Amino acid sequence: MKKEIIEKAHVEYKEVFSDTYLNINYEIVKRPPYQDLTYLFNNDEYLWSHYIYINIDQQIPNKELADSFWLKPEMNNGYSKSWVVYNYFVYPIDQLIFHGGCTHYSKISNIDALYRVVKIGCDYQHLWDKDRYYNLDYIINQCKYTIDSLWQLTPINKHCLYCGNFSPESDFDESGYCICCKEKRIKNGDWNEDKKEK
Ligand SMILES: [Zn+2]
Repeated sequence: MKKEIIEKAHVEYKEVFSDTYLNINYEIVKRPPYQDLTYLFNNDEYLWSHYIYINIDQQIPNKELADSFWLKPEMNNGYSKSWVVYNYFVYPIDQLIFHGGCTHYSKISNIDALYRVVKIGCDYQHLWDKDRYYNLDYIINQCKYTIDSLWQLTPINKHCLYCGNFSPESDFDESGYCICCKEKRIKNGDWNEDKKEK
């Protein structure tokens, strides 16, 4: 598991843990306790959240299901400004299991991105969480439940670390190469069966 610490001039500090489970990249964020909301939360209670990233175009084989993960924006008109919101209490996102329900949905794309990626997650600081303490192992397990629930909906294509393409799990063997990469390497004569050679 990768761990990264992000600190912006002491204003915002967070620890970000990231890893992959069943072909889905996930991220767990741990922030320092709220200092000014002690009537709601414990002083020493860390603020946890977890997120999954789905590359819907490349990872979800069924196009119709993939499209349904790309929610339509709605305008929320406030007193002095407006902003975009998403109603994520709809199929298929309502099928995913989150601690206390989904509280985060956003569209993640690079500039000129070819593929649509969504980030979906939840946090652990609800009122009913008061006096409950969480730790990293617990959150990892919760995150895995979320990913398991996604697999209940659809198989998720795996990212080939060598060519960058996404293919069904069955196209991979334990070498981590997808079948196209492996065939190419065998053809080029640079495939070594003991897989030590890269
Ligand atoms: Zn490949």
